[in-house]
Amino acid sequence: MILPRIDIDLRKIAHNVQQLKKLYGSKGINIIGVTKVVGGNPIIADVLVKNGIEILADSRISNIIKMRKAGIRAQYLLLRIPALSEAEEVIIHTHISLNSELAVLKKLSEYASRNHIVHKVVLMVELGDLREGIMPSEINTHVKEVLNLEGLALVGIGTNLACFGGISPDAHKMNELSSIVERLEEKFKITLAMVSGGNSANYNWFTSSKDAGRINSLRLGESIFLGREALCRKPIPGLFTDIFTLMAEVIEAKIKPSQPYGEVYQNANGDVPNFKNKGLMNRAVLAIGIQDIIVSGIVPKQNVAILGSSSDHIVIDNTRASLKVGDAVAFDLNYIALLRAFSTPHITKNTIDIYECASIL
Ligand SMILES: *Cc1c(COP(=O)(O)O)cnc(C)c1O
Repeated sequence: MILPRIDIDLRKIAHNVQQLKKLYGSKGINIIGVTKVVGGNPIIADVLVKNGIEILADSRISNIIKMRKAGIRAQYLLLRIPALSEAEEVIIHTHISLNSELAVLKKLSEYASRNHIVHKVVLMVELGDLREGIMPSEINTHVKEVLNLEGLALVGIGTNLACFGGISPDAHKMNELSSIVERLEEKFKITLAMVSGGNSANYNWFTSSKDAGRINSLRLGESIFLGREALCRKPIPGLFTDIFTLMAEVIEAKIKPSQPYGEVYQNANGDVPNFKNKGLMNRAVLAIGIQDIIVSGIVPKQNVAILGSSSDHIVIDNTRASLKVGDAVAFDLNYIALLRAFSTPHITKNTIDIYECASIL
């Protein structure tokens, strides 16, 4: 198979989904499967749906279109608050969207009415992370307006923390969200069916709370695919953290000096590098680079060390592994490296079938 390539163990994804559903389900929380980190890969989305995920969420409409075209049947939720310019696409291709701007909601309403569709809306509340969300003091006026917009159904309230400002979705923040929901329900005589408390960073709050209050929904990507919570990036007990493996090929392996020689200026990244002289070194060049992957987000599984990278190459210290041309190096990936790997066509996506895996085990 052509390298570089990312191996994807579908059986482990199925396991993580089942475990997370059981865990969060024990306190009444439903899981929305977030597919953006795998670029809306339909084979992976299919595993989520077959293991009981009813709502698939992505930040990009193009990923949602890809999954729908592939026949993956689910409710599709748009994670990134819609741009005014994409309002029509949101109505046509998605069932639910997260929102914080009245101008956009009015456009969504217009297109929904025109298409005789009822589009579901979740209003996002700002609780301190300072990315998307309506300030709590302004939520009443927004709800009032949305309830009067034709073609839109206000189905819930949500918040997003730990993404921009690194703010913890702790008990204090989640209680605040629950009280906002209760205040709104009372004031407007409505029921908010979905209270979407956050993402993979909500794990610590969840495990340390007796009950989840009004929170009944979380949008999970990292926990499903990397088996980790997203505040400290600790593994979640019982989950696989090694679902994805990146494989890159050695295209040169030679003994060379360890220190570049000649006059030192900027390299391809605009840095002036500073390498220590460690004498002669077994070095290897891999056919993968910054164009394909976030190099700081990958960790070799073999005994090699990354020395540096440019647009199409990674150079490694090959002293211990003694890899030869044609050998492959395996890497673990973090969330952003995975995100990048799935958004380039230059990395082959190798899904290892559930039945193939079963026969290996
Ligand atoms: C990406 C994203 C998520 C999923 O976050 P994970 O940490 O991968 O679980 C949830 N909500 C929103 C709004 C997002 O953009």
